[in-house]
Amino acid sequence: MLNKIRLKKSLKTFEAYSADETNYSFRLNANEFPFDYDEIFNLTKKEKAFLNEINIRNINRYPDPFQKELRSIILNNYNLKKGQILFGNGSDELILYILLTLTGKTSKVLYLDPSFSMYKILTKGLGLKGIGVPLTSEFKLNLKKVIKEIRLNDPDVIFIASPNNPTGNSFKKEDIIKIVECSKGIVVIDEAYSDYSSTSCIDLLRKNKNLLIMKTMSKIGFASLRLGFLLGDRAVISSINKLRLPYNISTFSQIIAYKFFQKPSVINGYIEEIKDQRTQLYDFLKTLPEIKVFDSDSNFILIKLKKSKELYKFLTKKNIIIKNFFSVVRLQDCLRITIGTSKENKKLISSIRHFFKK
Ligand code: PMP
Repeated sequence: MLNKIRLKKSLKTFEAYSADETNYSFRLNANEFPFDYDEIFNLTKKEKAFLNEINIRNINRYPDPFQKELRSIILNNYNLKKGQILFGNGSDELILYILLTLTGKTSKVLYLDPSFSMYKILTKGLGLKGIGVPLTSEFKLNLKKVIKEIRLNDPDVIFIASPNNPTGNSFKKEDIIKIVECSKGIVVIDEAYSDYSSTSCIDLLRKNKNLLIMKTMSKIGFASLRLGFLLGDRAVISSINKLRLPYNISTFSQIIAYKFFQKPSVINGYIEEIKDQRTQLYDFLKTLPEIKVFDSDSNFILIKLKKSKELYKFLTKKNIIIKNFFSVVRLQDCLRITIGTSKENKKLISSIRHFFKK
């Protein structure tokens, strides 16, 4: 349901920064430096040819502010139309843009608890009222509670990560549909880990103008690009674009992401390998009565055990770092383990065996 876009009042007549097109031979508009790095570094012909081959050139110039090529290849990939995508320097930046544009002084923002911490951090940081709706003790979504809070508070923005971080599980699609249908504000489904699960809500975009799907390249091999994107209704996307920083996606990120989207299936084998390692780790952990293992649809597994601090310390001594949540009330005694390579997984499993002397 979307009656009208709840854009921050001060942005109603506000235009996005207008950057110029970059396809001119004489670019004298943006106060750039006219000498390129190949001249500065005095590169050899061979070096120049190599960098040219992989499209790395014009480092002295700002990146394409419209990310034209990348935009069209991704829209094509998801079968969406012009104007339905917005890029962020990581999806973290998109969370900030959503909150900056779609909320006012008295807005409320709903998120699940526990979930990805940036929803709460940025909501509170911007002085907005955050409503954290607790997941069940098994970290399942409590639909009744969520609907009740929506009816009571009418939040302008709702963030739901599915699969959820740090719990690892996906939520039922029919529950998500109910939330989208009952909300008058914007619902953001954060699909950062959806490549490791079997569901996506992208198909719901056609019918639901108040739905945004957030994706990132960080969990599928490209974390250093800092590239996230939002998919959704043109009018909503264009509102959020009002505060996007003009050149927020670097040339390198655009080039490498474009290469990826020319053939996204290149990662399929790796995803399968990670899922396979996930099963191996899950099956092993399940054999340990001292550990409670949560089901995972992501590239990590959450566990809970009384000796979480001891295990965490023991693993760091073995040069293995996993994620602890010692200061998070609902996650005390929980540890989150990212699925690595087969070699990393073997080392982890043998270290955990060693800890439990098994
Ligand atoms: N959403 C979720 C659910 C995440 O777990 C993360 C990163 N841990 C992000 C968004 C942010 O990803 P990035 O900024 O790297 O795109």
